[in-house]
Amino acid sequence: MKHNTREHLHNILSQNELRRYSRQIIIPYISKKGQKKIKDACVLIAGVGGLGSISAYYLAAAGIGYIRLVDKDFVGEENLNRQIIYWTKDIGKRKVYSAKKKLQELNPYCTVDAIQGEIMDDTILKFCSDCHIIVDATDNIKTRRVLNRASLTLGIPYIFGGVDGFNGMTTTFVPGETPCFECIFSGLSGNKKTIGVIGPIPGIIASIQALEAIKLILGMECTLKGRLFFFSGIDMKIKEIGIEKNLDCPACRSSKRAKAYEEKND
Ligand SMILES: [Zn+2]
Repeated sequence: MKHNTREHLHNILSQNELRRYSRQIIIPYISKKGQKKIKDACVLIAGVGGLGSISAYYLAAAGIGYIRLVDKDFVGEENLNRQIIYWTKDIGKRKVYSAKKKLQELNPYCTVDAIQGEIMDDTILKFCSDCHIIVDATDNIKTRRVLNRASLTLGIPYIFGGVDGFNGMTTTFVPGETPCFECIFSGLSGNKKTIGVIGPIPGIIASIQALEAIKLILGMECTLKGRLFFFSGIDMKIKEIGIEKNLDCPACRSSKRAKAYEEKND
């Protein structure tokens, strides 16, 4: 298992890129300056399932310069109701390679690095050491804890997302600024069970995650930092839950960046 390192920052937007992104460059919050920031960004997408299909697609389409995909699975027929980056002909293929092919056909200006591998403490730091943001598109607590630890160690934002049935939730954890994953979900067990998911729910949640990533890259202020966004597709209601740091949190208690948060909020 090996992965490429990011070669260089691309500073110039070509005429083709200016045309491709023209409908977002005309947004004052973005402009050419913001588009260059998007191009210079490196995003790790952890898992390319229902959530990762969508966040990877939108981030590649928006012009993120470098996307690293990590997933260990192969495409199964039962994935296709929600993992819309895969088509029927992809059944049996490695997810990361199938997804990479689609993303590069979508946007040849986006470099996609595909890693077929497991996300564990001893691999994750290598996978995301040169990334600016971790997008969580995993489906289990154990892997999320690994992502959280990597986020705290490297001091990079971790955009959490989770779906179950007709419901989904997301928030953005920023070391030194917000609580971490463990502060909020410390009571959850790591048991992995098969859950049902209706496809539009990861569509909604991962779209918000992609938007969060873009806004963080642009340096926009109002994000989901410190706010847990919860969407119920049963009664079509959105809830926002304020989240607070757990001062005894085993994950971020000893993190220097998390301590900065405590001091700021004393
Ligand atoms: Zn914590």
